[in-house]
Amino acid sequence: MATTCALCRRSIPDERLEDPGVVQTHHLRPEERATSPTVSLCRPCHDQVHALFTNAELRESFDTVAALRDADRLAGYLGWIRGTNKLDVSTRTSDHVRRER
Ligand SMILES: [Zn+2]
Ligand SMILES: [Zn+2]
Repeated sequence: MATTCALCRRSIPDERLEDPGVVQTHHLRPEERATSPTVSLCRPCHDQVHALFTNAELRESFDTVAALRDADRLAGYLGWIRGTNKLDVSTRTSDHVRRER
């Protein structure tokens, strides 16, 4: 059964799922793992979300898939990733997130 990424909506074929990191569980409210809803994201989307948003931003403003999908910060990435079948992407943590760490 192919898995679909909740964010980019790409379908990840079964043969790619042999790589255990290809689909990851994202807690929509980071640091509230016990109560947070979760979604399945492909590895590039998960990396990208955490590269562009701090945990506080995710909790306060982007704790639904719909909010993430509409986020200006992700628009360029989503437009690009949807046209590829890449599941290994090198992601650069934004300065904005880096400062919060
Ligand atoms: Zn994705
Ligand atoms: Zn996550």
